[in-house]
Amino acid sequence: MLNFELYNPTNLVFGKGQIEKLPTLVPQGAKILLAYGGGSIFKNGIYEQVINNLKGFEIVEFSGIEPNPHFETLMKAVAIIKEQKIDFILAVGGGSVIDGVKFISAAVNFEENPIDILQKRLLIKENAVPFGTVLTLPATGSEMNSGAVVTIEATQEKLAFGGSALFPKFSICDPTVIESLPKRQLQNGVVDAYTHVMEQYLTHPHEGYLQDRIAEGILQTLIEVGPKVVENPKDYALASNFMWSCTMALNGLIQKGVPSDWATHMIGHELTALYGIDHARTLAIIAPSLYKVMFETKKAKLAQYGKRIFNLEGTEDEIANEAINKTVEFFHKMGMQTKLSEYTEDYSKTADFIVNRFEERGWKGLGERQNITIDKVKSIVEMSY
Ligand code: NAP
Ligand code: FE
Repeated sequence: MLNFELYNPTNLVFGKGQIEKLPTLVPQGAKILLAYGGGSIFKNGIYEQVINNLKGFEIVEFSGIEPNPHFETLMKAVAIIKEQKIDFILAVGGGSVIDGVKFISAAVNFEENPIDILQKRLLIKENAVPFGTVLTLPATGSEMNSGAVVTIEATQEKLAFGGSALFPKFSICDPTVIESLPKRQLQNGVVDAYTHVMEQYLTHPHEGYLQDRIAEGILQTLIEVGPKVVENPKDYALASNFMWSCTMALNGLIQKGVPSDWATHMIGHELTALYGIDHARTLAIIAPSLYKVMFETKKAKLAQYGKRIFNLEGTEDEIANEAINKTVEFFHKMGMQTKLSEYTEDYSKTADFIVNRFEERGWKGLGERQNITIDKVKSIVEMSY
């Protein structure tokens, strides 16, 4: 096992009605920027619950953080915080609002051009504005991690960043919020979380036996509850297990002591930046091709996954291959299309475009062994057409 430090300061406040604890979680006397997205919180009553629980606090609202949040939008919030001397941010939304707030939090006290946080992938270790979250969409794990992804509209780049100063101070996770989610977003949540686990599990060499068992537990839970929760989001047992699985998939725990891949995400981000395809759906497009192109390095782990998750039998190669098919089957069951051509007719130059971008950024090798070279990236994208 690799050496590791486990640091996760987020106070995760989980369960029905936990939003009532909001006034005790926000620092007393804080002037708050209440940040949210396109207005779903007005329709499902979450806005009202938040406001009712923040009586007595001075609140400034910032709305309109879009899915795959834009640098340009977030910089408007940075200006408001500076002008109005705000000292705490409350993100109410899904991964996009929370990620957006992480960027805002990092950018306010950043002395140079905040675009560098994204383009130079700087680690934010201090001087962030403290923030908490009310999660409305289980998927990303952003409520309990210190990473985020932001899109620069001007250059159509979707870039990841993070750092130890960017953990939420608290996150309120009430599983009943999923009742108002459209089917498409529920499906996305399951597949995003599933792929987060795979990015940290399907790596080699990997000597985290306990991490493997935890990862497999999350995968099995998502396979068990995923298809059902989409049909019945009001079932609290399903909703709570779905929500907790999403958090556990990316709160850092299963990543400790093991290498992680993240190439599916890195390539997937390009598809969102280029075509606006939902984040989770880009993962369902890229992951199967990546497993095939990287078959030799990943096959031992694919075989373990096939045996333990799908009870497959046969030779290592047979099980590993069939495990990829089973993964695609699960993605289809979760309403995903797994080929790029099913989302856009304009796909033929995608691989060249992505490869050029990666070269410009100096990304020579992705993945846990940095052996997903530019040529491999090209093959992966072409195979996913
Ligand atoms: P999202 O982009 O935050 O939200 C998608 C849509 O769902 C929005 O239109 C939103 O509406 C709506 N919505 C949210 N909660 C709702 C509710 N309870 N009822 C009805 N509608 C609701 O989706 P997401 O999948 O959570 O986040 C995706 C982003 O996270 C991507 O940019 C992705 O790259 C990133 N990501 C981050 C991490 C990380 O670790 N930080 C990991 C993976 C992915 P409103 O706009 O009205 O809120
Ligand atoms: Fe993701």
